[in-house]
Amino acid sequence: MKPNGRLVPPERMVDAPSQRLFAALRAAGIAARFVGGCVRNAVLERGIDDIDLAVDKPPATVMAALAAADIKAIPTGVKHGTVTAIADSRSFELTTLRRDVETDGRRAVVAFTDDWLEDAARRDFTFNALYADPDGTLYDPFDGRADLAAGRVRFIGDPDRRIAEDRLRVLRFFRFHAWYGQPPVDAASFDACRRNAGTLGALSAERVAKELLRLLEASAPVDALEAMVEAGALDHWLPEYAGTARLRALITREPTPDKLRRLAAILPAEADATAIGKRLKLSTQESLRLGVMLAREPVLDLAGGPRAWRAGLYRLGNKLYRDRLLLAVNTPGDWRGAFVLAESWTPPELPVSGGDLLQMGLAPSPRVGALITAVEDWWVAGDFAADRSACLAELVRLAKAA
Ligand code: ATP
Ligand code: MG
Repeated sequence: MKPNGRLVPPERMVDAPSQRLFAALRAAGIAARFVGGCVRNAVLERGIDDIDLAVDKPPATVMAALAAADIKAIPTGVKHGTVTAIADSRSFELTTLRRDVETDGRRAVVAFTDDWLEDAARRDFTFNALYADPDGTLYDPFDGRADLAAGRVRFIGDPDRRIAEDRLRVLRFFRFHAWYGQPPVDAASFDACRRNAGTLGALSAERVAKELLRLLEASAPVDALEAMVEAGALDHWLPEYAGTARLRALITREPTPDKLRRLAAILPAEADATAIGKRLKLSTQESLRLGVMLAREPVLDLAGGPRAWRAGLYRLGNKLYRDRLLLAVNTPGDWRGAFVLAESWTPPELPVSGGDLLQMGLAPSPRVGALITAVEDWWVAGDFAADRSACLAELVRLAKAA
């Protein structure tokens, strides 16, 4: 693979931990290059999340080289060639050059190689097969920079074949389009995605969910999502899909993208969050949050002003209130005012509890809970003005009246 460009390497590629790592590998005769997302984003001058390196020797050799240089090495996925190096508390994923031996549309059997071009050719899109030396020498074997500049997500090689090797690439196509694409989509790539969209059911839920949520997290995901739907790529995994109208409105409101909230925005109000959570293998916490975001009740009273907002905040808690508020795009009222309040006001705690009733001589019974609920409703309706002694007095009154 011949170099064909230069890059001004961002700080993270040339700082002390990075130099230490490259020196350790070099000392052991291992050639290493930055690869994938970090190089792509460096070319775009966008921020870098993870640093991935490709190395031309097997994991055992890499592990030994790191040990010799006193750099911590974790055998993250040695079978697949991946070792995580931790140099001065900065982490790097080192993966041995690979080629596919066998593919079945879901998982590949890979073999290690020392051929950089073979490694590049098994990657998915042209701009994901960029490599860089730490001095900024760039390797771009499939003209990924031109595609990146044009906002064109293009498969390396024949799209149908590449999808047959790994069907997840259909979803990755739309995910990368959301992040790096410009309309129109690359026609040959899109057509292949459409032709293969019916085969996505066999994928693992975790991989699908990761790609879908990642797509939704992009700053402008609407076009990519609509293209994905047009291709039929969402049919199997999210048949509940209800269009992008609410997502568009949400995007104009939300302070930062939130993938789960955006997922809620493309689902109908009556969607079954539990079923969707199971299908996409979301965590229990995520499923519960999705459930609150999709539930018909409580309807937020935004027109009722600060008093009604405070009551809502108390009932839902700030985080879930904010979710519902941002999603309630058709609810009349000053949502901005409510949002500011949700950012700044912490609901107080009810100043009385069941213990107070027991101290008054009531026997433990469901009545205790009912009385507490009643005093709580009264306290919330009074905009939290009543203090502990006022709440106690009201409790006494309610207990006598009942
Ligand atoms: P991000 O910044 O979103 O993580 P990324 O490019 O690092 O973007 P990853 O999904 O982390 O994306 O994958 C890392 C690299 O591994 C990709 O750039 C690509 O070269 C390769 N890759 C990952 N998944 C596949 C796949 N299913 N088929 C082919 N190549 C893949
Ligand atoms: Mg990555």
